[in-house]
Amino acid sequence: MDLAEPALGVPAALPKVWLKAGREKSLRRRHPWVFSGAIDHVEGDVAAGATVELVSASGEGLGSGAYSPASQIRARVWSFDPGESIDAGFFRRRLVRAVESRRRLDLLGSRAACRLVFSESDGLPGLVVDRYGEYLVCQFLSAGAEAWRATLVELLAEICAPRGIYERSEGGARHKEGLQSRRGSLAGDEPPRELELVSGGARWIVDIANGQKTGAYLDQQRNRERVAAHARDADVLDAFSYTGGFSIACLRAGAKHATLIDSSADALALAERETSVNGVRDRCRFVTANVFDELRRVRDSGARFDVVVLDPPKFVHSADQVTAGSRGYKDVNMLGLALVRPGGVLATFSCSGHVDAALFQKIVAGAAVDARRTAQILERLAQPADHPVATEFPEADYLKGLILRVH
Ligand code: SAH
Repeated sequence: MDLAEPALGVPAALPKVWLKAGREKSLRRRHPWVFSGAIDHVEGDVAAGATVELVSASGEGLGSGAYSPASQIRARVWSFDPGESIDAGFFRRRLVRAVESRRRLDLLGSRAACRLVFSESDGLPGLVVDRYGEYLVCQFLSAGAEAWRATLVELLAEICAPRGIYERSEGGARHKEGLQSRRGSLAGDEPPRELELVSGGARWIVDIANGQKTGAYLDQQRNRERVAAHARDADVLDAFSYTGGFSIACLRAGAKHATLIDSSADALALAERETSVNGVRDRCRFVTANVFDELRRVRDSGARFDVVVLDPPKFVHSADQVTAGSRGYKDVNMLGLALVRPGGVLATFSCSGHVDAALFQKIVAGAAVDARRTAQILERLAQPADHPVATEFPEADYLKGLILRVH
């Protein structure tokens, strides 16, 4: 037996993080974050990502978590069971549980893509794993996930037997944890520049190494189908199109034409490829522009559409941006509403977790009043089952959308 390993069933003594009196309440409700302000003191010198025992002011063990000295979220809970060792076995159990859930949802087809591990919602704070057919893409977004990266990669290779595992640990979340961005191959083959997958029956080209996020927006797969249900014979305006997922779904469902707008020339170059392989490129127009400017220009030109899709990036990154971000959502929705032919459809989304579904609906309602249009909600959309929301962690609930009939 490796001497560094604790004896079976007897957890090694962990450094203790003592909470202030009364600050254990959120942990009792199984919320997995411990903010710096809730901590009374930390015993000893604890390294970033190290496993710590979380104890109440009276010394009661509340569970174990990963310590993150650089972040306001000073610890993230791995387990609420104080007796559970945090080791390879623990991570294997959590990963298998996440993968099995997607298997039961029938999301693991050889050319399908889905989110395999969704951080806190899968009991693995800071770890995101997306599966693109035979390739996995990991994001280690917390000090704890970073500390266990080698173990996690080994376990993913064992559990999923992918052709390759790639890393796209980038963005603000990592920065807040005091970590640099990292990108590159972690195991097996490098993904091809253009990986071809299938989504909703359409061919889907994903550039894992250079695309946005981990290569694509997996969270809109089902919503593209829902919007496409309104697209027969439609003239579609796809604003914030990225590589054109909504346009392709609509054109395959019988839309006449689609106009794709995105500020990223790379995204639209891939959209040209993707619409080509789907045989719909000749019914598309690609506009590299700022959506706000372009929608004003289109509005003034008098052009109108049967289906307008608005799928902007996250406008609100923190609670103090809600007011400014709401203004952005209202502006873009006023512009979008103005471009819908009477009787047509607006499909509008927000991926800002700080703007909840009720607020988003209120913003869109205000936009309709100011745009002097009457709108009815036909359908409410949300994130799909591979982006689950753990009930004790409502922060995971970020994507909302409305399909509206506009008169
Ligand atoms: N609808 C896409 C995902 C959109 S993500 C899909 O289904 O896959 C948001 C997109 O908005 C990104 O492609 C980004 O390049 C683009 N973007 C961000 N700000 C923009 C702006 N001001 N004008 C135009 N495009 C913008």
